[in-house]
Amino acid sequence: MAYQYDDQNIFAKILRGEIPNGTVLETDHCLAFRDIAPQAPDHVLIIPKGAYVNFDHFANNASDAEILDWVHTIGKVCTLLGVCPDEANGYRLIANSGKHGVQDVPHLHAHILAGRMLGRMLP
Ligand code: 5GP
Repeated sequence: MAYQYDDQNIFAKILRGEIPNGTVLETDHCLAFRDIAPQAPDHVLIIPKGAYVNFDHFANNASDAEILDWVHTIGKVCTLLGVCPDEANGYRLIANSGKHGVQDVPHLHAHILAGRMLGRMLP
């Protein structure tokens, strides 16, 4: 699939510093920041700095270093938020992709949602 990346999307603007964000963590290849409309007490988005539209675009084209950094950054954000699951907490990790995945911003992002009991997503 040959994806066209829209460099005017809101996360591209955040990466260029054109829009402020609540940064949680920045690495060589990733930025993690708080969602502007949080759906849980902790709602953080983790994006690669590279121009990837969605998860399969990233997984099929990114370098090993970018992929490892994204995965490690997600793990570090869980640790920073203090939500690594024990009996009392936990989190949900989501990457909406494309129309059926109801993806609004066409730059890959993982959502980490935590801090309250979330509704069941799958039967
Ligand atoms: P999607 O539906 O694409 O998976 O999620 C996009 C997310 O980006 C939404 O949860 C939305 O609240 C968040 N968002 C949209 N615009 C901004 C923004 O300007 N700043 C931040 N921090 N989050 C945003």
